[in-house]
Formats: sequence, structure tokens, C-alpha cells
Amino acid sequence: MRQPEMIINGQGISSGELYDVINPATEDVIARCPRGTAAHVEQAVAAAKSAFPAWSELSSDERKALLHEIASALESHMPELMELVTLETGKPLGGLNDVGSGMEVGGSIAWTQYTAELELDVDVIQDNEDAKVEVHRKPLGVVASITPWNWPLMIAIWHVMPALRTGNTVVIKPSPYTPLATLRFVEIANSILPAGVLNIVTGGPEIGAAISEHKDIAKIVFTGSTATGKKIMQSSAGNLKRLTLELGGNDAGIVLADVNVKDVAPQIFAALFHNNGQTCACLKRLYVHDSIYEEMCEALAAIAVNVKVGNGVEDGVELGPIQNNAQLNIVKNLAASAKADGGRFLCGGKEIAGKGYFFEPTLVADLKDGHRLVDEEPFGPIAPIIRYSDVDEVINRANQNENGLGGSIWSTDTAKAAQLAQRLECGTAWVNEHGALQPDAPFGGVKQSGIGVEFGAYGLKEYTVIQTLKVPK
Ligand code: NAD
Repeated sequence: MRQPEMIINGQGISSGELYDVINPATEDVIARCPRGTAAHVEQAVAAAKSAFPAWSELSSDERKALLHEIASALESHMPELMELVTLETGKPLGGLNDVGSGMEVGGSIAWTQYTAELELDVDVIQDNEDAKVEVHRKPLGVVASITPWNWPLMIAIWHVMPALRTGNTVVIKPSPYTPLATLRFVEIANSILPAGVLNIVTGGPEIGAAISEHKDIAKIVFTGSTATGKKIMQSSAGNLKRLTLELGGNDAGIVLADVNVKDVAPQIFAALFHNNGQTCACLKRLYVHDSIYEEMCEALAAIAVNVKVGNGVEDGVELGPIQNNAQLNIVKNLAASAKADGGRFLCGGKEIAGKGYFFEPTLVADLKDGHRLVDEEPFGPIAPIIRYSDVDEVINRANQNENGLGGSIWSTDTAKAAQLAQRLECGTAWVNEHGALQPDAPFGGVKQSGIGVEFGAYGLKEYTVIQTLKVPK
């Protein structure tokens, strides 16, 4: 049985108490993980604080080289990390449209390499006979990362790498459901980094709460639910922590009447169901023009019934289980409310019998805005298809939701689609695709989907404070 240790100040730390980590495909216990305490948070923050001066004073090139070394080490542990991700999340090694643990670990390496190469240059505002005025970017100090269970390793990398690149030190707390790949990543990185630069404490909400309140943490980067993001914001007020909050989404996709249904249905299906619907930027509300509504419903349902659902370690599996029983219950509950609201089930609708938290890929027609399955984020393999007839009206309807992470317009007229996409109230708007992220384009939510962005130079800046320097001549 795996029994990984937390890492604080470069040392493996076991805790008195352990808890079980479950494989969602089999419900087997796959590891016994330390249940960290507030005292471990104290130790980890103290270690990160004392490592900060030396780490922040390294040259940019030195930190860049160390990040590249970490990327290479991750690459050489790729099969092991993929196995851990699949065991703890249930996602396939390959998966629907190659969205599986191969993509998660490969993406983690690529994001590390890309972030290593980023630079934040000094901005010269004025340089004349009177004075030189420059804007410098400085690290914040100790950054805490709190991650969810859907893309545990990738999101850890998204948080940790820009923080380290800009000279901050880090304490990370993974989701208690999926700590294993993150623990291994931190262990691998600690064989390269100076002690105390990257620390990990495992445990549940109480560890997150201790982090949010800690006065020696300068910033929290959090990915998870909007409800938890609000709690973190409240308890971070004590020392005015900087926050990046990547929260829930309920992304709308609007399909115009001019599409060729057969051409776009596979892409739309993948946008709805990749990672079993458990991605913040999955398409979650599909609005389809009345004139092609039935054709689209049929095409999507025909794909859904042929998708191979199963244990992600098996060959050819496209969708795995829901990651945990609590999330399965949310999905079951939304399916029941869709039924009560008069939804027409085109496929699926039930939990799959046997071991594991499996639910059939489910599409529900004839629901309207105001119904729970349309208004709420299911974060699982169930999605509503909603009919519309007027494009201006449907954009208003799509914008009524309190979330604003992503959105998409599907059309053969890409210029028109791009104009409409800009009217969607969301942080990223796509045309003829949905949910694709890249390390050089900023990603983040508006409205209740979050604060701030990640990725590229825009994201990197969020791990710094500005210092304006004026030198009179
Ligand atoms: P969650 O909010 O329940 O938990 C996320 C993390 O916060 C976990 O590590 C958890 O232990 C910790 N936590 C819980 N209570 C806390 C508290 N009071 N203080 C501090 N930390 C606390 O979210 P989840 O169920 O793990 O993830 C699913 C949610 O994450 C979905 O809503 C999804 O949309 C969102 N998500 C958003 C993005 C994005 O980029 N916007 C990406 C992935 C997931």
C-alpha cells in the first residue's frame, strides 16, 4: 500500500493520522495519506518564509534553469505520474479526444517548460533629462496553492511554476481526494530545488482554512468551487492577501442555424464530455437553433451511446468514473430534477451498476433556463440541450448565469461568430471549439467564476507586486 509523506523544508514528514485515498473506478483503497494539521501548516509556512530570501535573490536565469530541470525530471517519471493520475482521478490513460492522464502529465511538462522561458522585463515609463522612472516586478513572498480533484497535477503545475519562476516560495495543499500525483511531483521537484522552496501539506478544508488565515502567506492561488473561493476571500482579508481565484463555470455554447450538424457534433460532444464533464471549462449548456435542434439532439445521442465508459487503465476506455461519491450524488440529483422538470432524456440518465462511481453519459432535451440542470454546474457526464430561435435573445439568456468562465459560438460564418462571441460575458470566448487552453493565452473567469488570470505573461504578473522606482537626474 502506498504511504506517501508530506514534504516540509525538504524533509519527508509523516503525520500521526492517515486517511484512505480511493480509486473511483474500483472503490479500492490505493494509498494511505497523511492527514496534516494546523501545526504542519505552521512548519511549512515557516520553511517557505525562511527559504524566500535566497530563492528570490537567485538570478532569473538560475530559476529558469531549475524549472527546466524539473520539467525533464517530470518527463522521465511520465508513466509513473500517469498511473497515479489515473488511479486517483479515474480518468483514462488516453481518453475521449486524448483528454486523459497522458494529456495531464504531458501538459504539466509543457506548461513547466513554457513558464520557465517567460520573462518579466523592467518597464521604463520615463527616461529624460529630469528623471528615470521604471516599473519593477518583485515576488510577493510565500504563495499558497489550493487545488481541486479534477486535474490535480496539471492545476498544481499551473499554480506552482509561475510562483517559483517569479521568485516566490510555495506551500501547496492538494484536494484530499487526489493528493498522490501532487505529492510525487513535489518529491521529484524537491530533489532539484533548495529545501523549503516548495512544501506540501495534505488534508481537507481545515488545512485550506488554516492557510487562508495565515499572516505569513502573501498570496493564495485557488482553483475550486465558487463557494470555497468566497470563504477563502473572507478569511484572507486579515493581511490583505493577493488572490487568484479560478472558480466554477457553467459555460454556454450557442450553435447557429448555419452549421453542418454532422461535422460539428463530434467536437461538441467532446467539449461537453471530455474528462467526463469534470473540467471547469467544459461546455455545460448547449443552446441549439430551432431549425437544427432535433438533428443535433440525434447526432449527439448517437455518439453518447457508443462511448466506452470504464476503468481508465483499460485499453480503449474513453470516459472514466466520476471522481467521488459526493459528486456522483450531485449528478444523480440534477438528473432527477431534470426529469421532474419535464426533460426528455436522449440517452443515459442512470448510475452504472457495480463498483465505482460511474454514471451514463446523459443528454437531456427540452429543458429551459430556470431549470436546475441548465442553471447549475453539474461537473459530471450530464448536459442539457436547450432550444432557441432568436440569436440576440439567446445571448441574453446565456449571460443571465452568475458564472462567466468560458463560452462559444458555433457557425460556418466565423467573422459573425467572433462578433457574437465578444458579447458573451465570460473570460474566454471560443469560435467553433470549446475548452482548449494554451500556456501563452490568459485564462480566468469573470463574474462569479473568479478573479485574476493564469498563464503567459498576464498570469505571471499576478505572482508579483509592482515597485515604481524614480531616480531624478
Ligand atoms: P472545492 O472548492 O470543494 O475544493 C477545492 C479545494 O479547496 C480542495 O483542496 C479543498 O480541500 C479546499 N477547501 C475546501 N474548503 C476550504 C476552505 N474553507 N478553505 C480553504 N480551502 C478549502 O472544489 P472541488 O470540488 O475540489 O472542485 C470542483 C470545483 O472546482 C468545480 O466548481 C469547478 O468548476 C471548479 N474548478 C474551476 C477551475 C477553473 O479554472 N476555474 C478548474 C477546475 C475546477
